[in-house]
This record gives sequence, C-alpha cells and structure tokens, in this order.
Amino acid sequence: MRIDLHNHTIRCNHAEGTVDEYIQKAIALGIDIYGFSEHAPMNFDENYRLCFHEMKSYEKDVLYAREAYEGKIEILLGYEIDYLPNYINHKVLDAEVDYLIGSIHFINEWGFDNPEFIGGYEGRDINEIWQSYFDAVESMAKSGLFDIAGHLDLLKVFKFLPTKDVRILAKNALKAIKKADMTIEIDTAGLRKPIEEIYPSRPLMEEIYELDIPITFGSDAHSIEHAGHGYDAAVSLAKEIGYTKAMTFRNRDKRLLNF
Ligand SMILES: [Zn+2]
Ligand SMILES: [Zn+2]
Repeated sequence: MRIDLHNHTIRCNHAEGTVDEYIQKAIALGIDIYGFSEHAPMNFDENYRLCFHEMKSYEKDVLYAREAYEGKIEILLGYEIDYLPNYINHKVLDAEVDYLIGSIHFINEWGFDNPEFIGGYEGRDINEIWQSYFDAVESMAKSGLFDIAGHLDLLKVFKFLPTKDVRILAKNALKAIKKADMTIEIDTAGLRKPIEEIYPSRPLMEEIYELDIPITFGSDAHSIEHAGHGYDAAVSLAKEIGYTKAMTFRNRDKRLLNF
C-alpha cells in the first residue's frame, strides 16, 4: 500500500499544479492513498496560503476528485495548519476533513524556513533556537488539535544544526506527540532542500520507533515533479528502523496499513 498524505496545489500561492494534475501523476506512480493538505488560511503570512474564502472551493474540488477517481485511487482531504497560538482559527479546525497536519514554520513569528528571513539565524545560539523550535512542537502536540506532526525537524532545512544531541532537544516534544496519539510523517521535502535529508533524521526516527509512535508518508509536493519524490528512500528508512505499517485517515479516524 503506497500512501502520500502531504501535498499542496496552486491554491497556496507558492506551489504549481491542480488537484487533477497531482492525481494523474499519483495514479501513474501507483500511489493508493493520496491526500491533499493545503496550507490552511490564517491572518498571518497570508501570501503563502489559502484565503478563508477559498476553503470551500478547495474542499469541493478534492471531494469531487474523490468521487471521480473512485476505484482508481483513494483521495483524502486535509489541511496543513501552522501552529501559531495567536492565529489559530476555528474555521480551519472545525473543517470536515480526513486529517489535520500540525506544522511549525515559525518561531515567535520568525519564518525560519523561508530563505527571505535566513538572517534570523545570525547572532543567536543555535541550540537555543532548536530548543524553542521543539518547545513549539511540544505545545502544538499538547494542543490536541492535530492528527499528524508535519516535518518534525524542519529547522535543519538550511543546515544550521544543533551542537547538542537532537534527541535530547526533541525529547519532550516526542513525549507530547506520543501522549496526544499523533502520527509523525516521513516527509521527503528535505531531500530537495540544502540539508538533502528526509524529515525526521534517522536518530529521531529511532526515538520515534522506541516510543511506538505511528508514521505516515508525505512528499510535501509543491509541483507535479515533487509528487512521490523520494518515496523509496522514505520506505527504506522506515523499514530499516523497524516499521512495517503506516497510518491513513478518514474523517479523522485512524487506520494502520502495511506499506
Ligand atoms: Zn508550502
Ligand atoms: Zn510545511
């Protein structure tokens, strides 16, 4: 069973490709369960996401595709939501979807994964930045609002790595994810970024497996060429760590399948 739950479309303003184009590619790749997780609207960083008034048409498009492609591929509807406590919006949280991905793209409103704001790393203690990042992941998990933790160690994107053991930095965040019954995605976007590595890293994957936290897979596609990119590497990593099953969702209910 091939699962890919993290995909964007042209609607978020920084990706290419329509729902239909992604599905065509996913079918060609032999993907069985394909989920859209568009950047949810919020009253912050508005240029990189849907507008509130676009939610309905996005949801309608994906649900229409679910029916149109029935029997060929299972299409799921989701959102990727930024966990920024001051901007959490109930319109998004209450949307009738299959799953919600909770992601940290901001530390105190600093967009650390955006090349535009790369200067933010200057003059700060890298271990402190990493600890604030994982503190944010911990709060996100403790909020209990999400099904999946997105790209768990996204902060490594530009190769600003901690000098402390990342497993210690992430310890409380992982505990909170476990307690919240969340799934962690193996996200292959990192392979296309300066770090050239899957999120999460192998040492973190080992901790995640130790804690018996379920996993799922995501391309984090922002263009048609990204669809399915790095899947073999993601599966190899998961298998080497010991995983045989991956999570999928329907109406926010979980289902574990062999991958
Ligand atoms: Zn994006
Ligand atoms: Zn993301």
